[in-house]
Amino acid sequence: MKKLQLKRGEDRRARAGHLWIFSNEADTGKTPLTDFSAGEDVIVTDSRGSVIGSACVNPHSLICARIHARNCQPMDADLLRARISDALSLRQRLFHDPYYRLVFGEGDFLPGLVIDRYDSHLTFQITTAAMEARRDIISEIVHDLIAPASVCFDNTVAARSLEGLETGSRLFEGNVPDELHVLENGITYIAPAKDGQKTGYFYDQRDNHRLCAGLAEGCDVLDVFSYVGGFGVACMKNGASSCVYVDSSARALACCARNHEASAPGRPCECLQSDAFDALKDLRSHGRSFDIVSIDPPAFIKRRKDYKEGLNAYRRLNYLALQLVRDGGFLVTSSCSQLLSGDDLRRVAATACAKQNIHPRLIYAGRQGMDHPVHCAMPETAYLKCLIIQCTHQPRPEALKYTLKDTGDMADSLQ
Ligand code: SAH
Repeated sequence: MKKLQLKRGEDRRARAGHLWIFSNEADTGKTPLTDFSAGEDVIVTDSRGSVIGSACVNPHSLICARIHARNCQPMDADLLRARISDALSLRQRLFHDPYYRLVFGEGDFLPGLVIDRYDSHLTFQITTAAMEARRDIISEIVHDLIAPASVCFDNTVAARSLEGLETGSRLFEGNVPDELHVLENGITYIAPAKDGQKTGYFYDQRDNHRLCAGLAEGCDVLDVFSYVGGFGVACMKNGASSCVYVDSSARALACCARNHEASAPGRPCECLQSDAFDALKDLRSHGRSFDIVSIDPPAFIKRRKDYKEGLNAYRRLNYLALQLVRDGGFLVTSSCSQLLSGDDLRRVAATACAKQNIHPRLIYAGRQGMDHPVHCAMPETAYLKCLIIQCTHQPRPEALKYTLKDTGDMADSLQ
């Protein structure tokens, strides 16, 4: 394997466990990145030549190499088989049923590879040239381990373009069903298979769905950005009285209606196909209110330069959602923007509550489920936050009761 040497001092992050090498950290005087082809195996060394690990290079990407081993080992069939088997055995330990994110990229020491499992149906998201080049090997390994009935390669992920990979299409192999049956927390959700979003279902909210549902007995629920009803349907299954689902996707809402009916036959269900912000304003203007309001938007902050605008969108959304929460009810606010920290989201909720004179009791701060393991040295792999806040309405401040003279008298009487 060729050598990719880092500049002096640029080995610190990788030595602390991080897996990414940025192109400005490579000593291109010694080894020009153009010497490498996309996906090629290299040994990464510090400026003095001592080995940091093995990586695959992409000379066209800002992240020019991703470490996949701490010794000298190419990303070959043996390594991939060991890593995928390892990821599988963790999931089998965590879950009784075969419905989970089987591989979560860097968190599973498999940079650039995500696989979701719906029993015998798999969805792949490949986001690096290195993994794309090894797609057939990965398929073979997965066939040996799981023998899937169908595989979908979701090439719609925007991150692929950063690696010079084709974006926009989904490719299917095998017998792809019309819809997926997803078992989560003892509930079967139906989700679109071929025309779904991302990999078909959002497993990352599993624990948060369950925690939220635990509060739901007798509640009227509003599930905004519902997709197929992850939050609302779990609440219905746990004794909620009614649910309104809001999403911009008609296909997702059709699943909500079916999932709702299967979990809570005959209990009231409304599906609103609308922009979430408009729907929240509309519900408010119709005097509607709820015991539980969940907001789970797509990432508003995708890149650092979107931070300010995205933060404002979170502020507006949380403010609007909070207006619909009844006294003593719960706001369930999520963010999947990695760049919005847990503290940021808490502050967003705090400000919205302060403006509406609500005492905010944070009772739960959740994260992505355990099948999305965080790489401890890589904050980039921790992205999901979910806060559950009980909202107690406080009396408005009264008009000032005392004149200055009165307060002077009070001060006198205290002396
Ligand atoms: N809450 C879901 C996951 C939500 S994914 C769960 O727990 O499983 C985000 C959803 O937001 C998608 O279904 C998408 O269709 C929807 N969406 C995106 N932008 C929207 C908008 N402006 N208004 C309403 N829905 C939107």
